[in-house]
Amino acid sequence: MKEKLYEIPLNDAIDRDDECLFCFLERKAEQELMDFVLGSCASYMESDTREATDRTGFCRIHQKKMFDYGNALGNGWILKTYYKKLIKEMKEEFKEFVPGKTSLKDRITGKAGNHNSVSAWIQGKEKTCYICDRFSETYERYVVTFFHLYKKDPAFREKLEKSRGFCLHHFGDLCSGADEHLNDRERKEFYPVIFGLMDRNMERVSGDIDWFIEKFDYLNRDADWKQSKDALQRGMQKIRGGYPADPAYKQR
Ligand SMILES: [Zn+2]
Ligand SMILES: [Zn+2]
Repeated sequence: MKEKLYEIPLNDAIDRDDECLFCFLERKAEQELMDFVLGSCASYMESDTREATDRTGFCRIHQKKMFDYGNALGNGWILKTYYKKLIKEMKEEFKEFVPGKTSLKDRITGKAGNHNSVSAWIQGKEKTCYICDRFSETYERYVVTFFHLYKKDPAFREKLEKSRGFCLHHFGDLCSGADEHLNDRERKEFYPVIFGLMDRNMERVSGDIDWFIEKFDYLNRDADWKQSKDALQRGMQKIRGGYPADPAYKQR
């Protein structure tokens, strides 16, 4: 079955004892996608990949990560054809543009810009990113596999209960995923487990941050750091996801 492909990385992620196993999977997939687009296999020179990147572009976060990755010529090629397509589309948009009539009411309520076709075209462009879009397909499969393992594998369940839980961002996805992938009886059992997990682990991280601050107190200068040395990056990850302290991922 299809899930098998995703079970190994998911089990691997839960064994890492990270603040969030989905953050761990996300970082891995993101790095693999950057290697695919910009790395030594040079997919950016293949027409189907470039058609795709011309169509979707990259979000602000991934554009920065692509720059930091280090393949300057590869980035140049990706931008070259993206620009050609963009300018062609933009000229069309400008040609089609008719300034709309805005009522006084729209201007007062701040809705005057809602019907601007050029603005809508740009907003559409900002909704797509080659890396985000490709990852979200993989992520869907990971969520499905997570519930599959939760239901059929007691060892996975045990590891989950002992794990550090999830970041708030991915936890939200898991709650909506439960409504989709578990039946009423399973959900009744599932929620207390993950709510307890989140409760304990949010308190733990919060306590780590408290001690991080205490450590700056002169009186605590010789005290043990306990778990708090990296409390900032873990504290930030736990709220929004991702790894604030990661160095830039570079071409190897
Ligand atoms: Zn996460
Ligand atoms: Zn992105």
